[in-house]
Amino acid sequence: MLDENLLRKYDALAPRYTSYPTAPHFHPSFGENQYEQHAERSNATILPKDLSIYIHIPFCHSLCYFCGCNKVVTKAGGHKVEDYIEHLMAEIAMRGRLFNGDRLVTQIHFGGGTPNFLKPHQLAEILEAVATHFHLDLPPNLDISIEIDPRTISPSQIEELFAIGFSRFSIGVQDFSKPVQSAINRQQSESNTLACIAEASRLSKSVNVDLITGLPKQTPESFEKTLRKVIDAGVTRIAAYSFAYLPERIKAQRMIDKDSLPDTQIRMRTTQLTRDILLDAGYQHIGMDHYALPEDRLAKAQLNKTLQRNFQGYTTHKDTDLIGIGVSAISKFDTAYSQNSSTLSIYNEMIDNQTLPIVKGIALTEDDRLRAAVIQDIMCHSNVDLSRTVSSIVERNSPLQLLDYFKNELKALSEFINDGLVSPTKVGFDITDEGRYFMRPIAAVFDRYLDNGNKGNSGVVPFSRVV
Ligand code: SF4
Repeated sequence: MLDENLLRKYDALAPRYTSYPTAPHFHPSFGENQYEQHAERSNATILPKDLSIYIHIPFCHSLCYFCGCNKVVTKAGGHKVEDYIEHLMAEIAMRGRLFNGDRLVTQIHFGGGTPNFLKPHQLAEILEAVATHFHLDLPPNLDISIEIDPRTISPSQIEELFAIGFSRFSIGVQDFSKPVQSAINRQQSESNTLACIAEASRLSKSVNVDLITGLPKQTPESFEKTLRKVIDAGVTRIAAYSFAYLPERIKAQRMIDKDSLPDTQIRMRTTQLTRDILLDAGYQHIGMDHYALPEDRLAKAQLNKTLQRNFQGYTTHKDTDLIGIGVSAISKFDTAYSQNSSTLSIYNEMIDNQTLPIVKGIALTEDDRLRAAVIQDIMCHSNVDLSRTVSSIVERNSPLQLLDYFKNELKALSEFINDGLVSPTKVGFDITDEGRYFMRPIAAVFDRYLDNGNKGNSGVVPFSRVV
């Protein structure tokens, strides 16, 4: 069990670093023109990167109280959904025009919301539009994945999704415990969920299950039962996120009884138990909160040092430019991030006006890119080798100069070193096994944007507790 003093010391608010700079630091002066310039620049590089496409489907049948995703709770079959699909298609065409023919798409991911809110034929239409306006790589290099809510799909519908091209499935479970499900307003049939996992595993080499630790009414013992069922189902990847409780920012979370939330010690016990059980079952710990069987591409990517972290979590798709399509979707180049409007009506209106629906973003400085590379190495590899970092960003600096460049940060790490969470090396540092529970505060040492109160452009503290 982790030392309680360490828990007290490091269980602070910190970003999850799915990007650096983090989204609260995107600003509204970055719009369509800036995006187009960065797209052009990315086409003009000597070896242009492959492309990865994220498509956001915001619709959900009901509201889960823990959820911080961009979503619209609505009824199936309504005009709103058809209308959104038309706008998505228009955005796909607008984005496609910006990228040269040598930019191959190697990944398409549908996230939400609930992507399987759409019928298979609607998803197929969207995929067809992507194939029309972009150049797709061929399988097995092309990976098409989808997040599934098993409450609204049957095993035979998963087979239909496989038939239209989906090769990887990520299934939302969160927790099988009935008291937890009722506290988060997400009643989910265990038998249908397990049947969906079985069907997805029959069809695909890679099936992920999302779980959440720290939910209301959850105990380490109750969570262990969920975990064992998921392991028995044979999934190749498990994401065990810690619950980000931010009721000031996420309205739905105000429906959760604060007194039903587990305290820090219980949350940490659950997190540690999760790691112990999964390692014992043969999974490898990936980055901060993911686990994968050795044969899964995620485990291989960690081994080959090609693992990446982006807005969807951990990915095997190294070095792609990310095109985010749909309401609230985020795009990424080496040199910039941008985000679409999070409001459905504004998103639709901007597309109607033939404008890319980008409402904010940020152009990255060289310092941003260096720090982003260090933070990426912390979050993905638990190891920072400044000579490797620097060669990927600026060729003129030697590792020695970089040690000097980051001298204040390396000094600030001494606390973590004294506590046995970080171990220094000649060219950087490693994060110890215990330190992996505190990757976020370790990464935060390199974050220049963290100011008093950690507030971004919105003026609201946007980050959750570390544990
Ligand atoms: S967890 Fe999924 S299904 Fe539930 S509200 Fe959030 S996006 Fe919708």
